[in-house]
Amino acid sequence: AKCGTDGNFSEGEMVPFGPIALSPSSGVLNYGQGLFEGLKAYKKTDGSILLFRPEENAERMRTGAERMCMPAPSVEQFIDAVKQTVLANKRWIPPTGKGSLYIRPLLMGSGAVLGLAPAPEYTFIIFVSPVGNYFKEGLAPINLIVEDKFHRATPGGTGGVKTIGNYASVLMAQKIAKEKGYSDVLYLDAVHKKYLEEVSSCNVFVVKDNVISTPAIKGTILPGITRKSIIDVALSKGFQVEERLVSVDELLDADEVFCTGTAVVVSPVGSITYQGKRVEYGHQGVGVVSQQLYTSLTSLQMGQTEDWMGWTVQLN
Ligand code: PMP
Repeated sequence: AKCGTDGNFSEGEMVPFGPIALSPSSGVLNYGQGLFEGLKAYKKTDGSILLFRPEENAERMRTGAERMCMPAPSVEQFIDAVKQTVLANKRWIPPTGKGSLYIRPLLMGSGAVLGLAPAPEYTFIIFVSPVGNYFKEGLAPINLIVEDKFHRATPGGTGGVKTIGNYASVLMAQKIAKEKGYSDVLYLDAVHKKYLEEVSSCNVFVVKDNVISTPAIKGTILPGITRKSIIDVALSKGFQVEERLVSVDELLDADEVFCTGTAVVVSPVGSITYQGKRVEYGHQGVGVVSQQLYTSLTSLQMGQTEDWMGWTVQLN
């Protein structure tokens, strides 16, 4: 198959969660030819189930498949498989306000290769798990450390797509940060070591005088679906939003900093430590802007307000 083109996927089947058979010489195990996605299903108080922008995840997987030289499911195949998996597991979706069902689609080179090359066969799987808050802090502020020694992506690399290897590269930095008591690592760009990129699993926003800034998408950070949604929500609330290079120095006099992602939703940042210096935000409370955006987005995702953006897909 050509990189990123529609794969010839056979109809899938629903099987109990458990080990899968994989060739020891599969592309994914040897050369990291794997992509994943993450999205959530929420249960409304009336029992109906909502997905949030699943077509965005489908499209992002297709973009990633092109970069990783894999065939991809079509948008329709992706969404249909997600829907079927969620409906088959609907008893696992937590009640409204108690969490959500995290959905993990995986696309991998399952065929055998020995010399370095794209795998001859691909497998697409989806598994799900009920989840609560990602950070133990919940909506309480998290503490980040800025890393200028480790980088998660370089220009021309794969940082802009959700490939498995990107996450292998952050494990060590994240472990060191956690051992020092930080919640996670905020990465700087690998060239100037000066501009903010993102956190291990979420995008970052800086608020100053009610202007909301976030690093522009330039191929090294993941184009987060929550990021994109928060930008639109903020614009609709009348905020000025800037996608640009955001210098690490801007953290020093920011009013608020927050992170966005499917898992973390909107996570306020209480402090950032950079080169031994710790800056605190919002007196360790949740900033006004972060709180407002969190409430707007989550009430929409959970179906507690009318879906004025047309972002949710109802399953039943
Ligand atoms: N950056 C990285 C590295 C991530 O893994 C994620 C989670 N998918 C995000 C940002 C946020 O993306 P999204 O809002 O689509 O979950």
